Amino acid sequence: MAKLDLGALDQALEAAHQPALAAALVQMTGDVHWLRPEWTPTYTPLSRGETGVPEAEQANFRAQARAAITDWVDRGSPAPTTPDAGTLRRMMSFVAGADIPENYADFLNDELAIGGQSSKDPQWTTPILKDAARRMHVLVIGAGMSGLLTGIRLNQAGVDFEIVEKNADVGGTWLENTYPGCRVDSSNHIYSYSFEPNHNWPQHFSTQPVLLDYFRGVADRYDLRKKIRFETSVEEMVWDETRAVWKVSLKTAKGTEQVEATAVITAVGQLNRPRLPDVRGRERFKGPAFHSAQWRHDIDLTGKRVAVIGTGASAFQFVPEIVGKVASLTVFQRTPPWGFPTSHYHEDVPAGMNWLLEHIPNYDKWYRFFLFWMVTDGLLAGVRADPDWKGDETAVSAPNAMFRAMVAEALRMQAADRPDLAEKVIPTYPVGGKRALLDNGVWIAALKQPNVELVTDPLTEITETGAVTADGTAREFDVIIYGTGFHASRFLYPMKIKGRGGADLHETWNGDARAYLGMTTPGFPNLFMIYGPNTNIVVNGSIIFFSECSVRYILGCLKLLAETGAQAMEPKPEVHDAFNIKVDEGNRLMAWGAPQVTSWYKNEKGRVSQNWPFALVDYWRATLAPDPQDFVLTKERQMAG
Ligand code: NAP
Repeated sequence: MAKLDLGALDQALEAAHQPALAAALVQMTGDVHWLRPEWTPTYTPLSRGETGVPEAEQANFRAQARAAITDWVDRGSPAPTTPDAGTLRRMMSFVAGADIPENYADFLNDELAIGGQSSKDPQWTTPILKDAARRMHVLVIGAGMSGLLTGIRLNQAGVDFEIVEKNADVGGTWLENTYPGCRVDSSNHIYSYSFEPNHNWPQHFSTQPVLLDYFRGVADRYDLRKKIRFETSVEEMVWDETRAVWKVSLKTAKGTEQVEATAVITAVGQLNRPRLPDVRGRERFKGPAFHSAQWRHDIDLTGKRVAVIGTGASAFQFVPEIVGKVASLTVFQRTPPWGFPTSHYHEDVPAGMNWLLEHIPNYDKWYRFFLFWMVTDGLLAGVRADPDWKGDETAVSAPNAMFRAMVAEALRMQAADRPDLAEKVIPTYPVGGKRALLDNGVWIAALKQPNVELVTDPLTEITETGAVTADGTAREFDVIIYGTGFHASRFLYPMKIKGRGGADLHETWNGDARAYLGMTTPGFPNLFMIYGPNTNIVVNGSIIFFSECSVRYILGCLKLLAETGAQAMEPKPEVHDAFNIKVDEGNRLMAWGAPQVTSWYKNEKGRVSQNWPFALVDYWRATLAPDPQDFVLTKERQMAG
């Protein structure tokens, strides 16, 4: 920085997350005195950055930080120091407001990526042996968040690949979901690739157009579009055992086409096959009816009688947006969502914060680290079930009951003037049973509007002109909007996938998709899934973190193939089965696995097939590199004689 704008600095110091700035200052000044006990934060489970440090001490910190930053600029903005391991751990513990356990240090160091030593740094990808890479051709399915990431890493590793994408553009879920109010509910400073920070997120939780721009920008910066075939979907894939290739039938605008790939990586997401409710007469409704993910922007809702079915994450966002324009809004609720109080959910990132992200070396990393830690495992203890829990079914443990009391109180306060509503909006299932939404009050405010009715009687029939509930009440509507979610547990649906011996993947799974570490399945060689079975999260982390772990592991698998000269790999059945037993045991001990909870996390067999039940550090460690002992590595041509 050539010249310091003191006005901008003062604004920045007001907006700073002080513990993150203190850690950055340790590196800028080479002095650890910034990690003082009196500046050490104490967070509460639902705190959103408040440090608990008294205002006088915060002011003292600002004054000292101002002097130190001014001095640093006067000295010509020297490069920050790289702390030794012990200091780094102290800094992490300071920012986290908690002692970082020993087994988290390397994991957090990797996520933090200070000084480029992280394995997530672009230099991480040891190029796959060049000759072997030349012989590989990898097909990636999907150009959303995970597919783009895969393309970037394959490029860096020197592996030949192409991406097929069913839509006409990149972005996946952020391209498809255009409903009013659509935005991310993980903080953007962690809901972004670790190696592609954005110092200019306009809001803490960006809206869909902003996110789509981010992913489009990444696709352009990494020159990925030339590798993507748009409006192309995979219909069928068949494993050819004699040649060790996947023969893939593609559906394109011009018809069908066959391609071959040595490996296939699916990056198709979990939440993009809209699910409509099984309600009698659904097809009879004469007016416009559409799903939230297929929003009809051509339908003007102004002055219309609108029904919304479902009160999940999508409805929670679009109901407050449309309530002001419709004549009447009837919201059909089967189960109310939990909402965590988040007052800054719709707020802009203060200009001062963006200044720090841009100008103070490593502030971006330490701020991301703070956000990451707060959602890493901080909330897990509150949603873990106690097998000896003697309380009622509204909780799964004593900490979960306390957590419940806290969040329920926040909901109750919002509906204090409407006891009838309070009774309906406070869930009776445990906190953590389903993904909690971020609540800044607009949901309950919308439900309180005079033109809104929240119906909790079950919906029994849809008619030509409206809907009927179990109590026999018929209501008339002009438009029905389904906020009823997705066929999440139908992994890789509707692709037909035939593996070894012609076995069909969907028949093999029989409605109960399983994979080893969410990525590989016995009998289906060289098929790798991102965001596959049991890799979703409920209260901890961002899904981008999971994708980054998975892609690193999959690249490791390709490297293993290249180095061993094997042509095919698949997990050993016993490894796959043992892993799934562990996962099921884990999920049974989480709020979302509790028998009283029904959600899309459970598949038609009642098994939790979506969620990772352990800590993030466990997924990170398990996916650093594939263990060759876990796999059957074969040379198919030899096998086929
Ligand atoms: P969802 O969370 O699955 O919600 C579907 C809603 O429809 C639920 O309230 C469900 O009730 C209800 N429903 C289903 N069938 C019904 C019926 N026959 N009668 C009445 N209600 C019915 O779907 P979503 O809101 O689209 O969200 C899906 C997932 O997408 C989220 O969990 C989240 O992971 C992701 N998402 C994220 C964001 C974000 O980051 N901002 C935004 C939107 C979505 P039950 O609960 O009783 O089943």
